[in-house]
Amino acid sequence: MDGGILLDLSDMNRILNFDEELGVVEIEPGVTQGQLSEYLKHTNWMLDCTGAGPDTSIVGNILERGFGHGPTGNRSRHFAISELILSTGEVFKLSRSVRYCGRAGLSANLHELFTQNNIAVVSKMKFELMLRPQSSLRCLVRLRSSNDLVEYIEIVRQLKAEGSIDGLPHLGNRYRILTMMERFNFDKWDPSSGVSDNDIAPLCKKHGITPWSGAFLISGTKQVAKEKAKRVKTLLKTIAQVNIVNFENLRRVNTVAAKAGKLLGRIEIYRRLQHSLDDFTQMMDMFEGNPKDLALKGCYWRYNGDIPQKMDPVSDGAGFFWIAPALPMLGDEVEKCMRLTKQAFDKAGFEFGVTITAVSAHMCQAIISIYYDASNLEEVEKATDLRRKLSALYQRHQWPCYRRAVDEMPFDVGGELEPDALTLRSRIKVALDTDNMLAPGRYQMDIPAARKGGRL
Ligand SMILES: Cc1cc2nc3c(=O)[nH]c(=O)nc-3n(C[C@H](O)[C@H](O)[C@H](O)COP(=O)(O)OP(=O)(O)OC[C@H]3O[C@@H](n4cnc5c(N)ncnc54)[C@H](O)[C@@H]3O)c2cc1C
Repeated sequence: MDGGILLDLSDMNRILNFDEELGVVEIEPGVTQGQLSEYLKHTNWMLDCTGAGPDTSIVGNILERGFGHGPTGNRSRHFAISELILSTGEVFKLSRSVRYCGRAGLSANLHELFTQNNIAVVSKMKFELMLRPQSSLRCLVRLRSSNDLVEYIEIVRQLKAEGSIDGLPHLGNRYRILTMMERFNFDKWDPSSGVSDNDIAPLCKKHGITPWSGAFLISGTKQVAKEKAKRVKTLLKTIAQVNIVNFENLRRVNTVAAKAGKLLGRIEIYRRLQHSLDDFTQMMDMFEGNPKDLALKGCYWRYNGDIPQKMDPVSDGAGFFWIAPALPMLGDEVEKCMRLTKQAFDKAGFEFGVTITAVSAHMCQAIISIYYDASNLEEVEKATDLRRKLSALYQRHQWPCYRRAVDEMPFDVGGELEPDALTLRSRIKVALDTDNMLAPGRYQMDIPAARKGGRL
C-alpha cells in the first residue's frame, strides 16, 4: 500500500455492553464472531453467524452489509452506530440512549449511510442478537433435478412471505458443495478446460450430492417449529427430497459415532461415514451461533498443494474471487442468471460454484465463486477476465452486485447501475471526507473535482 496508512482495529476488541433483557450488544470493530459467540455461550442469546469463520470482524461484516443464516441474519437491518470518527478526527455519537431503541430519533436514517460508504471509521456499534430457540430444527433440501430451481425459488418466496421460514435459506449447486469435500484432481483433469459434469459424477454419487442442495434453520417453541417444518415439507417435497433433523438428536448421534469410532475406526468405510457425519454436525452447529471455518476449505479447490491446518487463503495463495449479484425472488429470473453465468464459466474453463440465499421474500443474493490456481499466471488472468465479464453481464441485466471485493479496488463504477446514486454518494463523500482520505476508491468514484473540494 504505497503512501497509505492502514488502520488495524483488531485491538479495539471490547464488548462494551450486553443488555441481557433486550438481547443487544455494543461492540468495537475488533470483536470477532468467535469472541462474541464464546461470550454469549451461557446466555439466552446468540450470534446469528455468517459462514466466514470465527476470526472475522462483526462490525466489518455489517458495514459490508453481510448476512448470516437466522432471523436476524439480514444484518444491515439490525444495527445502530453508536460512535464514528471522521477523517478530520471529529467524533460523532449517534446512539446515546442507555437502553437500545432501534433506529429512532434524529439519527434514524443516518446509520445505513455509513455502510459501504468509506466516509468514516465506525468505532462503536450496537446490534441485535438472536434468541436461542427452544426447538432448533434443520431442514435439508435436495432438489431432484436442476430444472426444479425455478419452482424452488417460487416456493421459498411463498414460505418466506407467509413467515413459515424466518431465516435465510442457502442453496448451493453441486460444485459449491463439492468444493467443501474434495479438491481439483490435477492428475486427471485439465485445468485449462475445467471439469465436466461427467468427471464429477462419481464424486457426487459418493457424497450424495444432487444438482442443488441446502439447509436452513427452523426455530421457535417446540410446537411452532414443528408446525413450520410441516408446512415447509409439504410445499417443498413436490420437487425435492426434504429431511427435518433435530439438532440435539444429530449431536447425540455424532457423539455416539465418535465413541464407536474408537472400536471401528480401522474400517475405512466407517471412518469415512463418521468423518462426513462430523463435518455435517459441525456445519449445522453454526446455526447454534458457533462460527466455523468449514466454508474456507472451498477456497482451496484449485490450490496445488497441501491445505495447512490453520487455513488463511490470502497468505497461502489460494486463488478465490467472488462476485455477488442481487436478484429479484422470481424463479425465471434466478434461473436466467444461473444459466448465463454457467455459460460464461464453461467458456472460460472454470467450475461454476454458487450459493443462492433468500434474504427476504423479495430478493435473493447469489454468491458466485471463481476458484483458480494463484501460482499459474495465465489462470489468474483468465479468472480476472471472467469476473470482469460477469460484472458486465450483471449490469446489462440489472442485477446489481450487493457488495464488492477489496481486490476490485479502485472500484470502477463507470457502467454501474444508478448513476444518480453515485453522484449523491460522491457529494456526501466530498462533504464529510473532503480530502478523500478514507479508503479512496473503495466504493465511491474517485472524481478529481471532489478532491479539490469542487461541486460535483
Ligand atoms: C469462506 C468464506 C465464507 C464467507 N461467508 C460469508 C457469509 O456467509 N456471509 C457474509 O456476509 N460474508 C461472508 N464472507 C465474507 C466475510 O464475512 C468478510 O470476511 C467479513 O465481512 C468481515 O471481513 P473482515 O473481518 O476481514 O473485515 P475487514 O476486511 O476488516 O472489513 C470489511 C470492510 O469493512 C471496512 N471496515 C471494517 N471495519 C471498519 C470500521 N470500523 N469502520 C469503517 N469501515 C470499516 C473495511 O474497509 C473493509 O472494506 C465469507 C468469506 C469467506 C472467505
